[in-house]
Amino acid sequence: MPQTKIIATVGPASDRREIISSMMDRGLSCVRINTAHVEAGYIGKISRLVSDLNREKGKHVSVMVDLKGPELRTSSFQGGRKKISSGGVFRLVANPKADDEIGINYPGVLQSLKQGDAIRMSDGRVTFIVKTTGSDSVEIMASDDAEIRDRSRINIPGRVLDLGTLTDRDREFLAEGISNQVDYFALSFVQSKENVQSLQNAIMELGGTQGIISKIETKSGYSGIEEISAVSDVIMVARGDLGVELPLTEVSLAQKNIIYHAHRRGKPTIVATQMLESMVQSDSPTRAEVSDVTNAILDNTDSLMLSEETAMGKYPVEAVKYLSDISEYVESQRKDFPEPEEFIGNRVAYSIAVASKVISRDSSAEGIIAFTRTGNTARMISAVRPSVPVYGVVATEAIARKLNLYRGITPVCMDVEDERTTDVNLMTKNFQKAMGIRRGLRYVVTSGAPYFLFGGTNDVRVITMGEYLGVGHTNGISAEGKLAVTADQAGEILLVSTADRIPEPLGNFRGIICCGNVSSSVRERLRSSGTALLANTKLFSDLKGGEDIFMDGYTGLIVS
Ligand code: PGA
Ligand code: MN
Repeated sequence: MPQTKIIATVGPASDRREIISSMMDRGLSCVRINTAHVEAGYIGKISRLVSDLNREKGKHVSVMVDLKGPELRTSSFQGGRKKISSGGVFRLVANPKADDEIGINYPGVLQSLKQGDAIRMSDGRVTFIVKTTGSDSVEIMASDDAEIRDRSRINIPGRVLDLGTLTDRDREFLAEGISNQVDYFALSFVQSKENVQSLQNAIMELGGTQGIISKIETKSGYSGIEEISAVSDVIMVARGDLGVELPLTEVSLAQKNIIYHAHRRGKPTIVATQMLESMVQSDSPTRAEVSDVTNAILDNTDSLMLSEETAMGKYPVEAVKYLSDISEYVESQRKDFPEPEEFIGNRVAYSIAVASKVISRDSSAEGIIAFTRTGNTARMISAVRPSVPVYGVVATEAIARKLNLYRGITPVCMDVEDERTTDVNLMTKNFQKAMGIRRGLRYVVTSGAPYFLFGGTNDVRVITMGEYLGVGHTNGISAEGKLAVTADQAGEILLVSTADRIPEPLGNFRGIICCGNVSSSVRERLRSSGTALLANTKLFSDLKGGEDIFMDGYTGLIVS
């Protein structure tokens, strides 16, 4: 599985059990519901599907409900479309009657328009310039030829319009999302931290605990990125609208800046829109799209998002697979990503997170296991960008699912009988069993001690998986096999009390465990023949021979 997270918008092409199931098998982390196109009841339907599939597959795929906020849109037109020719003059009004009138759903904005303002419609396909102003009718002239459809999006680039944060329709979806325990709400057209805070209050009033994804898609949202990322859980680079609100040529650098500013304070990001646009029709992406996905990963994003590709495209499952394959490849080639510069929060836990990254690299660990109550330590570890997987081990499904938008985190939900348990070794054993991990592999483990294992992280250690049988001084070579306690017993590893019992030649033995001292000449002989050695070994229990054991050349541990 790639470290980069994949989000797919569901729609007519994918909102069925088989398709969501296949997308999950290809590495999907989060399902997005775009409320622009759904009816009441849809959130419940999708949430139940995802929860069922999670249970079946033992996954923690999350659900994001994207609230549209007060989007400016045109009225409907006769025949569903309207032809616009360059130079044509129209009037923006509340209730269009004549042929040259275009309705706008928030007529209140008309009075704030100024002569010369640019107004863009239909995702920027056509730009109009304001000619003459008025409080209920504004004359505009088209600069392009285009055909616009019913309820086309209207953008007024650069203008901060105070239309509130949520519409009545948003509030209904908010209530439906909270009662269905979705994981995140995305908020469109965030312009300031106040927008985020008012959604936060609305969620709290309804008793929800959902995280907020702020969509950066206006000039004011872009320039307010620092204060917005401080109060948001996740930041989305919403390139669709951003490319209309900003000159299109500026979008790619804006993406880099937004990711930089969010990650700087440890907040995860999503890059959205037109990632694999051609796959709406085609079963493979263009070179430019593969390049764009690669660059988003190199820009340090946490997640990649698919919109039309999975909502209404012909190849939703293949699109997820392409993102997954590209990510895996890029991650195998590039490992060095920056740490947050301005971390705010529990500094002890953060320093443990930084240490876990360093230790995992220097001890060649397979992964980092973070026992965490709120998920915060796992989030911090993700933010420092270790190159190994991070297992965020939590006690509740809701937190596990939230962790699925953070790069590199595999959420694991474990039954914790007593939340005050302090037994790291026991919990690590349970983890090993639950995940089916081979004995002998090393993991870096973070936890809290001495009061709660989950919470108040202040401890980091390296644990070799398995039952510990003893420990000695290693010569750096690992070996695995059956243990013999006399030289004529069958086996690959020989246990001797003193060095004079080490046979010469060694025969089949690949490893020697010696309870006494071993002279440097014998050490040298074993090393040069590639034989593992533990000298001065202390055994924790009686070994009789015949056991299948592993001698860890990194730690000197003997495990079974
Ligand atoms: P949307 O947001 O798909 O809801 O418009 C994403 C974007 O604008 O890129
Ligand atoms: Mn948008």
